[in-house]
Amino acid sequence: MEDDGSRSEAAGRAAAIVGAGPAGLYALAALVKSDRFDRIDVFEAAPAPYGLVRYGVAPDHPKTRNISRVLARGFEHTRVRFLGNVSVGRDVTVDELRLGYDVVAVSTGMLGDRKLGIPGEDLPGSFGASELVAWYTGHPEAGAVELPANLTSATVIGAGNVALDVARILAKDAATLRTTSMPRPVVEALAASTVTDIHLVARRGPAQAKFTSPELHELGALDAVDLVVDPADLELGPADQEAVAQDRHAKVTVDVCREWSQRAATGAPRRIHLHYWRRPVRILGETAVTGIELEPTRPGAAPPLTLPTQLVVRAIGYHGRPIPGLPFDEGSGTVPSRDGRVLDDGEVVAGVYVTGWLRRGPTGVIATNRGDANEVAESVLADLDTLPERPSDPESVDKLLAERDVRVVTWVDWLRLEAHEKAAGDAAGGDPIVVHELATALEVIGAGG
Ligand SMILES: Cc1cc2nc3c(=O)[nH]c(=O)nc-3n(C[C@H](O)[C@H](O)[C@H](O)COP(=O)(O)OP(=O)(O)OC[C@H]3O[C@@H](n4cnc5c(N)ncnc54)[C@H](O)[C@@H]3O)c2cc1C
Repeated sequence: MEDDGSRSEAAGRAAAIVGAGPAGLYALAALVKSDRFDRIDVFEAAPAPYGLVRYGVAPDHPKTRNISRVLARGFEHTRVRFLGNVSVGRDVTVDELRLGYDVVAVSTGMLGDRKLGIPGEDLPGSFGASELVAWYTGHPEAGAVELPANLTSATVIGAGNVALDVARILAKDAATLRTTSMPRPVVEALAASTVTDIHLVARRGPAQAKFTSPELHELGALDAVDLVVDPADLELGPADQEAVAQDRHAKVTVDVCREWSQRAATGAPRRIHLHYWRRPVRILGETAVTGIELEPTRPGAAPPLTLPTQLVVRAIGYHGRPIPGLPFDEGSGTVPSRDGRVLDDGEVVAGVYVTGWLRRGPTGVIATNRGDANEVAESVLADLDTLPERPSDPESVDKLLAERDVRVVTWVDWLRLEAHEKAAGDAAGGDPIVVHELATALEVIGAGG
């Protein structure tokens, strides 16, 4: 850590950022650069920073996960602290933060999944993508995911990159996952998987799918996996033809799927089937998932289809959860705001801001959060001189956390955990291996100091 040595006359202000994902850390970078704060504290519920870059981006995409190096830079300044393992709303309230900080910028993202709202959705064997993703990336709060012992067919609902990630991870030869950051018990569970067929179900056609080209090409290039697409699903109506003519992205998806539909089966041990123009209407099973009923969504399409399946994963979008003490729009799962200023019944809540997925919903790539955070930082800086004096010092929050026996994970603690993960990865000849249990993470951290 190095101090940048600079202090401006307007300093003396303190900011709290809640959530150390991309949005929070891009906001941190902008606020540090402004030189208007004596102190910026970043509160994070997990024992580790980086949000979905660590606990979302697929473990077999290490280059994308490496964006964390850029995000870490804000912590090089001695004016900045990391307070990990602190859940705002549980360990400390938003109101308590507002007493200790002039500015509270909330960037807690979206944790839950949207639901399909169909019968059978709560059966064992039916998961939201966020549950499966939390499990395979090693989130300490991930619930137990057990792949069904009789798993031969898995169904993934959705037409975006999260659906592709899940399908790819399920289809991949687990030997290729042994050099990734995946916790070892997850690799072992995937290695023991008996799945042969993975069905991707999309409500609309290829011209409307939200898959991005690199991820789509990656799926088509998987070893020991055949792609199965019904050419009838690729027949384009007038609106699709227009979409393909105007949108390069739609054209690529259609072209790639056409190429797949013409491939001869190689007899590979696993198959990924794409089903366009279908929507699930019922998940079947008494005590666990045994099948799924799919209905056509366009006239003249193939008749209803029932797939035997033991695992259903809905990847139809993430949904935010309210943070106690903050206004919340249930419909969109976001905190209402204008230019990043939090609104309560249309009125600006002085000194409280929102950025990232919690501000604009679960769309865009990691870099989209940079523009978003910069806009919000502009609002913060524009307001700063007009904000009232804060009643107490940031130390008041430190005292509360100490009184409540919260084991705050500092940046130095995190670096220790990171070094441990790297050593484990080096020993296995691969990427750093995520420590997925909180108790183990705290033990590793505690052992060093
Ligand atoms: C499965 C998946 C894969 C993805 N893969 C890619 C990809 O390959 N490339 C790409 O560009 N984009 C990808 N994205 C999108 C990208 O991850 C998001 O755009 C980005 O992470 C959103 O940033 P955020 O900071 O708003 O939220 P998040 O990344 O979710 O960060 C929010 C942070 O807030 C913390 N938090 C939550 N509640 C509290 C609380 N009460 N108190 C304190 N802290 C709290 C969370 O622990 C988390 O660290 C993916 C998304 C998902 C879901």
